This record gives sequence, structure tokens and C-alpha cells, in this order.
Amino acid sequence: MSAPALGDLVCVACDRPLEVGRVVGSYLGQRFEVDLPRCPGCGFVYVSEELASGKMLKVEQALEDK
Ligand SMILES: [Zn+2]
Repeated sequence: MSAPALGDLVCVACDRPLEVGRVVGSYLGQRFEVDLPRCPGCGFVYVSEELASGKMLKVEQALEDK
């Protein structure tokens, strides 16, 4: 299995293809802006497990530096 292309991502709720857009997210109190596939209908943002893991790692490293 290969990673799904953007065109293959569809909102489960709206059955509409996701479009890449700038979204503001937060993780453990940290705000960040990132371009992610999102649903133009309901605003659902697709966050891959890889991205979620990366953000978690960054936050943990920042805390250790203090
Ligand atoms: Zn939707």
C-alpha cells in the first residue's frame, strides 16, 4: 500500500474532496500554522499520523530544553 494522494482524500461526512488550505492548529497549548487538506464543506482538517507524531516530538523536545 502507498500513501494516498491528495485527490483520494474525501470528507467522510460531506463526501467532498479535500482542498489544501492554511489552517491554525494547536497542540498542548502550542499554536502553529500549516497547510493541510481540509473539507470546504464542514471544515474538517485531515491530520496524518505522521504529522501528529512530529508535532508531539517537537513539543517534547522544547520542554526538555528548559
Ligand atoms: Zn466535510
